[in-house]
Amino acid sequence: MTIATLDLAAETQKLLSELGVDAARYTGGSLRVASPITGREIGLLKEHSVADAKKAIDEAHKAFAEWRAVPAPKRGELVRLLGEELRAAKPALGRLVSVEVGKITSEGLGEVQEMIDICDFAVGLSRQLYGLTIATERSEHRMMESWHPLGVVGIISAFNFPVAVWSWNAALALVCGNSTVWKPSEKTPLTALAVQALFEKALKRFVAEGGQAPANLSTLLIGGRDVGEVLVDHPKVPLISATGSTAMGRAVGPRLSQRFARAILELGGNNAAIICPTADLDLTLRGVAFSSMGTAGQRCTTLRRLFVHESIYDKLVPRLQKAYQSVPIGNPLENGTLVGPLIDKAAFEKMQSALSEARSAGGKVTGGERVENGAAEAFYVRPALVLMPSQTGPVEHETFAPILYVMKYTDFDDVLDLHNAVPQGLSSSIFTNDMREAETFVSARGSDCGIANVNLGPSGAEIGGAFGGEKETGGGRESGSDAWKAYMRRATNTINYGKTLPLAQGVKFDVE
Ligand code: NAD
Repeated sequence: MTIATLDLAAETQKLLSELGVDAARYTGGSLRVASPITGREIGLLKEHSVADAKKAIDEAHKAFAEWRAVPAPKRGELVRLLGEELRAAKPALGRLVSVEVGKITSEGLGEVQEMIDICDFAVGLSRQLYGLTIATERSEHRMMESWHPLGVVGIISAFNFPVAVWSWNAALALVCGNSTVWKPSEKTPLTALAVQALFEKALKRFVAEGGQAPANLSTLLIGGRDVGEVLVDHPKVPLISATGSTAMGRAVGPRLSQRFARAILELGGNNAAIICPTADLDLTLRGVAFSSMGTAGQRCTTLRRLFVHESIYDKLVPRLQKAYQSVPIGNPLENGTLVGPLIDKAAFEKMQSALSEARSAGGKVTGGERVENGAAEAFYVRPALVLMPSQTGPVEHETFAPILYVMKYTDFDDVLDLHNAVPQGLSSSIFTNDMREAETFVSARGSDCGIANVNLGPSGAEIGGAFGGEKETGGGRESGSDAWKAYMRRATNTINYGKTLPLAQGVKFDVE
């Protein structure tokens, strides 16, 4: 079947019904959703108003007051059931991710796998929300840290990971004793409806098994920026985890600090790889190809800047050019396709404008042209490889499309400086078999990013590590390691079990 004749509206309906979503939720509304695969409509969702959003937050706040009293391992049981639902729904939900975002099949399924993985992680975490016991300077005293639930956690997510980002936040937030309110991207709300239905299924099972869970523990708000802004400004939302462009973070960050709310900002990246003289070139080629062309260049961790040592430049770059020219582009639902469509026309136009800027700055562009396949409203492109004379112009910005800027380097210290000389700081990598280069790259004077890898590309992180970046990437951390601490309130407790009242620092204050 050609792309032009694909009926994705019918398939979407079938998938949503299988996933437990009532057809009334995605028909007859005002928010039009198109599949980037065909460019044609697959849903018309009813949107929430600002008043609906305010009400939902009040309800979520009531849910929090109950949920925080449920013991953490019991909260973990709900997340375990959610993981089970996701396992059972993986084929359908993964397919829906592909239909709504245009990801190739393994990436759509991979996104759901990531949700399952974070649920497993959070279940274990529900028995490990540890605080410290701290040595005190006073006799017959004990000092300790307690971690308490925080409140309503607001989650704002981007189109390119339409469901995984919710789960990174929600699985942790729920075991930490919080309720959540989620505003997904207006470009990808259908997968959000499906995830909400799966959550509700897990919740029903939890209650049927005797678990105590309030209504409105996890709420979904469908809408655009105005609905997101209600979450950002609401005094009953102590933490916002917002994933999206740096422009969004610039709008959201100051509003949150204005009311002293916490922020986990996961913003744009401009990720690089340094290819050193001793790099294994076969491995490098695969690592670079996946990181730069995978997900059609629409990952926050996509490889966008490539620094190649002059001694291997002429060996590696022609091989890369060949890979760029031959990579299979097309219907992401078909086996063998590696590059699917861009999300929409605006993304295509931004790509073209970055390429024309690159040409003006002396860049030599191959690829970047539209791939015509009969779907007039869909935007398929050949990934672009741009040989740049230096790191200027569009190389310093994130263009959310498959463009890889390639630059030659001579000196390792100079390339480290160049690597760090952009405003973003999400992910990075080095390909080398020289231990000194590898260790320097991950050391204090190496990469300044939140993620620094050796002999693999910058994209495709696992959930076990804390995920996020520095500088204009926003500084937030979510997912694994101790990222859970951002979802809890820390209290330091000092307990006097003696009969005297020694004061700290030797202060005397004796009253009769
Ligand atoms: P976007 O900034 O256009 O939108 C992201 C979300 O923010 C959407 O839900 C949108 O409705 C909401 N939003 C926008 N302005 C808002 C405001 N003023 N107040 C409240 N909500 C607001 O981003 P996008 O195009 O969906 O996603 C692509 C971008 O996201 C890229 O820059 C990419 O690098 C970034 N991203 C970052 C990460 C990360 O973890 N660092 C992960 C995925 C995507």
